[in-house]
Amino acid sequence: AEQVRERRAVLRLSVSGFDVPSPIARFEHAGLPRELLATVRKLGYEEPTSVQMQALPVAMSGRDLIGVAATGSGKTVAYLLPLGCHVMAQRRLEHGEGPIGLVLAPTHELAEQIALECRKLLGRSLGLNCASLIGGVGKYEQLKALRAGCEVAVGTPGRLVELLAMKNGLCARRVTFVVLDEADRMFSLGFEPQVRAILQQVRPDRQALLFSATFPPALERLARDSLSEPIRLAIGTAGD
Ligand code: ADP
Ligand code: MG
Repeated sequence: AEQVRERRAVLRLSVSGFDVPSPIARFEHAGLPRELLATVRKLGYEEPTSVQMQALPVAMSGRDLIGVAATGSGKTVAYLLPLGCHVMAQRRLEHGEGPIGLVLAPTHELAEQIALECRKLLGRSLGLNCASLIGGVGKYEQLKALRAGCEVAVGTPGRLVELLAMKNGLCARRVTFVVLDEADRMFSLGFEPQVRAILQQVRPDRQALLFSATFPPALERLARDSLSEPIRLAIGTAGD
């Protein structure tokens, strides 16, 4: 226990919550399938970042997570790897079903960037399809992608709400893994109602991960309402 405390101090990680798994030192210790580990290597990720060292074992163990970390700390990989593993552990999609993993992001650019990383990481290695569901472009291609079957969808809150309201649009029935990325930005852009509406349509026994650079009271309330016994993880904050 003392060693784990020291390792977290070196990594500038602070954690709270019960039964927090120890941080891992290498991607090999994350319990990823071989093909996925090979892809991580191919993309040039040699060793996990601090956030990844702690977030990977937490998320891989099925727990809800609040991750507070600055930009550039490697949060995308930290949630996409567990998301991919979660999807692989579920029953396969049947016709008209999907997605299983759902990622919410504040802006078109960020959503597209996440979808791109998702395809690189989980596309060929695990055979997962990822739909990008953003506003400002037509719905036709997005609906076509969903109909063809997507295990993962990444989108902005407004468009996700629109697609969820359509009869043959987005179906939340199989969603069991939800990520809120840059949650503080989603709130400052006024998307809290949409985020809450989306979460209300996802079954309550889902796994949920919330990532944010800051953690204002409005987010604290959302976390209380939407996460179950989350492990909270912060890195390099508070005046250092
Ligand atoms: P954040 O979302 O925390 O701002 P990103 O997920 O966008 O950070 O990652 C920032 C950059 O770091 C990206 O270019 C990404 O490819 C790279 N990166 C992520 N994980 C690693 C790693 N383990 N080793 C090296 N580079 C990484
Ligand atoms: Mg990010």
